[in-house]
Amino acid sequence: EQGTALAAIDAAIRIIPDFPQPGILFRDITPLLADPKAFALAQALLLERARSFSPDAIVAVEARGFLFGAPLALDLAVPLVPVRKPGKLPADTHSVDYGLEYGTDRLEIHSDALARGARVLLVDDLLATGGTVRAAADLVERLGADVVGALFLIELTGLGGAERLAEAHIGVSALLR
Ligand code: AMP
Repeated sequence: EQGTALAAIDAAIRIIPDFPQPGILFRDITPLLADPKAFALAQALLLERARSFSPDAIVAVEARGFLFGAPLALDLAVPLVPVRKPGKLPADTHSVDYGLEYGTDRLEIHSDALARGARVLLVDDLLATGGTVRAAADLVERLGADVVGALFLIELTGLGGAERLAEAHIGVSALLR
């Protein structure tokens, strides 16, 4: 039953206080990755959610988004497209700069990665302020594809992430809050 499954998944996520800086409660997913039963449960529930968006492609965000996005793309038999940190993608790229709490960061996508009009589901491990996935959505839209939703293992509420994505008309789905 789904409540039990979610409790098992939740129990496999460890909270590390003050990482990478004071005041942050870091959600460490490595115990989940190390527990094949809990990882499989999480993946099965994410797949159910992912299917409901009927995506033509999964766009996963470096690095932890890859861990959850890759199996989804295989199970749905749709292309997996990585969004990466600068300088990692070898072919022609589009890039977007986005604001962090201190300074800015950049994400890139291959210019030929998506067909125009493709229905794209964005995947990452965790939604906090929404800045990362908002930037990934900008890249997808620059290629002429459509973002149909954003799927996360964990949504941290109270940081404005879902609201920020709603402004861009992106619906959020998350297993854990
Ligand atoms: P944001 O752009 O603020 O939504 O942050 C999301 C990105 O930062 C994701 O790729 C997360 O993996 C990472 N992140 C932010 N906050 C946390 C946290 N408390 N624990 C683990 N990862 C986090």
